[in-house]
Amino acid sequence: MTILPLIPTSPDQPDAVTTRRRPSMPPRHLADLDLEARKAAVTTLGEPAFRAKQLSTHYFGRLVRDVDAMTDLPASARERLTGDLLPTLLTPVRELACDDGATRKTLWRLHDGALVESVLMGYPDRVTACVSSQAGCGMACPFCATGQQGLTRNLSIAEIVDQVVYLAGVAASGAVTGSPPRLSRVVFMGMGEPLANYPRVIEAVRRLTTPAPEGLGLSQRHITVSTVGLVPAMRRLIAEELSVTLALSLHAPDDDLRDELVPVNQRWKVAEVLDAAFDYAARTGRRVSIEYALIRDVNDQPWRADLLGKLLHGKLAHVNLIPLNPTPGSKWDASPKPVEREFVRRLREAGVATTVRDTRGREIDGACGQLAAGELTEARAGGAADAEVAQ
Ligand code: SAH
Repeated sequence: MTILPLIPTSPDQPDAVTTRRRPSMPPRHLADLDLEARKAAVTTLGEPAFRAKQLSTHYFGRLVRDVDAMTDLPASARERLTGDLLPTLLTPVRELACDDGATRKTLWRLHDGALVESVLMGYPDRVTACVSSQAGCGMACPFCATGQQGLTRNLSIAEIVDQVVYLAGVAASGAVTGSPPRLSRVVFMGMGEPLANYPRVIEAVRRLTTPAPEGLGLSQRHITVSTVGLVPAMRRLIAEELSVTLALSLHAPDDDLRDELVPVNQRWKVAEVLDAAFDYAARTGRRVSIEYALIRDVNDQPWRADLLGKLLHGKLAHVNLIPLNPTPGSKWDASPKPVEREFVRRLREAGVATTVRDTRGREIDGACGQLAAGELTEARAGGAADAEVAQ
């Protein structure tokens, strides 16, 4: 693991706990607005409307997030526009790299002290950003580090978009070893339940997929929204007619176990949630991804593989098995490799496309929420949160 030298932590900087305040939404940022609303905002600030396009080209086209680097803007305009349209939303607390620089994780502090994480993952043919949609999460899945923290608040549209613009800038700088210098995919698999922050996540998706300078110009197909299975929101998503990829965190094919692993199952059962996922696939023509974290002796039995195979046979779906990344203090562990292989074999035998997710970023607490959880624990244990950075 490498600790990157970008961290603006100083000995006199207060730790994460003392800077936490009442959760509140951040100030407005240009990424909260579409281009028309940005024009209206700059004119209200006494600037000509064309500045909206100028700012947008810097931010979305050139990935410049700091108004001081926008040197073609007069100094007076820069000052006026910074406060109102380009406030700092994300301050890096830690930045970690592993896998020889191909995986980079950033822990951010938001304006109210809340902590969220983003991960950048480089592959030979693509670079993917994994972003957070909420600070904390209210879904309480017992194997997930974020689920243990509870929900702090929803992120704003711009807090979501700014994670991606930042990571796209890192990719463009060539820092992701062995990958193209262009961010091409975004997965909503960081902290939070994206469909519980529905309107902001959908607007963020629009911003990410509208061509520059209004947005980042990514392909809708290259955006994945991952959900625990909030059925009404899944149905609402079908009606948006977006062609984003839907991932459903199933983790168990039977209600008895899923009620425990994904507590929202007590409200919307396996059959109902799969129905909504299949309807999404049918309406969009996009294969849904069924996420299944394999947990030793909990959900990895051959009969559960067979039941899952039966439920998914002939459907526009594939299974993405995730070796469990144990959270600190958890009683659960990943399944042994032979058990995992047998699970894969049975699913494939049932005609269901199955892949095993690579275990990127394990060394840097790559799984959902683990870095923020670590930060909170360390800070609570006596403000030691920055010790690692100082070494
Ligand atoms: N709330 C959304 C998205 C965030 S988590 C959802 O649940 O889909 C992204 C994926 O990581 C989910 O499938 C989640 O269940 C899984 N995950 C969470 N903690 C994990 C862990 N400790 N090990 C393996 N996968 C985990």
